[in-house]
Amino acid sequence: MVAEFAGLTEAESKLLSSTSSTDVSVLDRMVENVIGAFSLPLAVATNFRVNEKDYLVPMAIEEASVVAAASHAAKLARPGGGFHGSMSDPVMIGQVQLLDIADPDGATKRILAEERKLLELANSKDPLLHKVGGGAKKIEVRVLHTPRGPMVVVHLLVDVRDAMGANAVNTMVEAIAPELSRLSGGRSHLRILSNLAINRLAHVKAVFTKEVLASDDWSGEDVVEGVLDAWCMAAYDPFRCATHNKGVMNGISAVAIATGNDFRALEAGAHSYAAWKAGEGRVISPLTMFEKTPNGNLVGSIELPMAVGTIGGTTAVHPMAKLAMKILGVSGAGELGTIMAAVGLAQNFAALRALATEGIQKGHMTLHARNVAIMAGARPDQADRLAKVMVSERAIRIDRAKELLEKEHTS
Ligand code: NAD
Repeated sequence: MVAEFAGLTEAESKLLSSTSSTDVSVLDRMVENVIGAFSLPLAVATNFRVNEKDYLVPMAIEEASVVAAASHAAKLARPGGGFHGSMSDPVMIGQVQLLDIADPDGATKRILAEERKLLELANSKDPLLHKVGGGAKKIEVRVLHTPRGPMVVVHLLVDVRDAMGANAVNTMVEAIAPELSRLSGGRSHLRILSNLAINRLAHVKAVFTKEVLASDDWSGEDVVEGVLDAWCMAAYDPFRCATHNKGVMNGISAVAIATGNDFRALEAGAHSYAAWKAGEGRVISPLTMFEKTPNGNLVGSIELPMAVGTIGGTTAVHPMAKLAMKILGVSGAGELGTIMAAVGLAQNFAALRALATEGIQKGHMTLHARNVAIMAGARPDQADRLAKVMVSERAIRIDRAKELLEKEHTS
């Protein structure tokens, strides 16, 4: 039907059913109206040493230079000991919105007085989570004064252990909503997880020694100062900060996709946390921080919500995600989140270093040259040749690729 609707040729229809290394029947059970699979390159980032353990980090991403940049940054972190970090307890927030409340303060008191009973009710919905040490742990109540009247918003704090937790939390908030309506004297409306996971944070640090940052063209001291100036712009300019944080997520989302994690949830969590942390009167803050040690080395650190799971969601269903998890070799969500934060820090450091020295385009366009050649119509075997010529000419453009291609065809 799709082929008829869109006028697909037989070859195009065939392409739809032949591009997946995963059985389409598996994919068909994951979402609705499946017509094929969309492949992304699956790569591994190298050199990552996190908390004294070496990892090969699977990344699924379409953007050239991300894997190379992460691997290079991780290499530069190794003389300083690699990355060190941890994750807080995996506590997610589920929200219940209560409306038509005559007395918000009274409702707040009545709800908090029944905290134990509400937690028991929530936990009765997920005995398995409770058994592995997780479960609903706390109730918080906020009162919002909005143009549509006061709203009481109840937060259910749930330790979701090795799950991302959205389904677990959503089930619990739906279960306690009727009781919250009764206690508040109003009615419950929205019942859903918040992606602003301020209680589930990853913290990672790395030292980049000034010696390792030195190159033929730049002294280590210049690179350190250059990165500090670059970071400072992000701290004071939301226009720069948006891109600074995008660079962090280049790495994190690629690992999320490879491991079957919900990258939209991570992106939403990261960017909303960056805004939340910026505080009153400011728009956004960098997810990373760079400082100089007394002996002149560069220290990078990262802090962000990391709602990732090694259980549940797609991680345990998608065969490629399972394979990626095996390559990574992590024991649980805390370890996975710590590695992902390290990748985010590495990615960001690589971008700042490039921007503060030779500029981002040199490395990026060199790696992008192959894509440009393919866009110009080159076959994969021609693309490498054309890319090499364009890089040597410093003219990585479609028009130049087309010229070179024509030359190949006529010669
Ligand atoms: P899930 O429900 O598939 O798995 C979690 C369950 O696994 C737990 O409830 C528990 O019963 C069980 N479990 C067994 N051993 C466990 C352990 N060691 N640690 C934790 N749980 C254990 O998955 P989920 O993580 O609750 O939900 C994730 C999915 O929800 C993702 O696919 C995501 O895309 C989706 N989602 C996201 C949002 C959002 O981000 N706003 C909203 C709705 C759904």
